[in-house]
Amino acid sequence: MISVTELYALFMALSLSLMMILIFVTYMFMRKTMFVSIETVTGKAITVLKCPYCSYTIRRVFREGDHVGAVAQEKCPIHDANLIVSEIYTETPSSE
Ligand SMILES: [Zn+2]
Repeated sequence: MISVTELYALFMALSLSLMMILIFVTYMFMRKTMFVSIETVTGKAITVLKCPYCSYTIRRVFREGDHVGAVAQEKCPIHDANLIVSEIYTETPSSE
């Protein structure tokens, strides 16, 4: 007969190992996305900046540290508010 404490310990061990797997999977996923972003630096990546108050949008060359939701140095000429990175994409290379 298994006691309550033993059952509890078993449950704790199970949930702990499950958590470890989850952390590992998340880590692997993060590594993959980080690798992709490094690749975009070497390519022709474009960052789309948007004003949080109006539809003012500008496009510029991707800079290191850019990620969706990041606050950029550029400002909206109407609101004098820092633009937010709304999109990052790679330009398909034209016939070069
Ligand atoms: Zn604005």
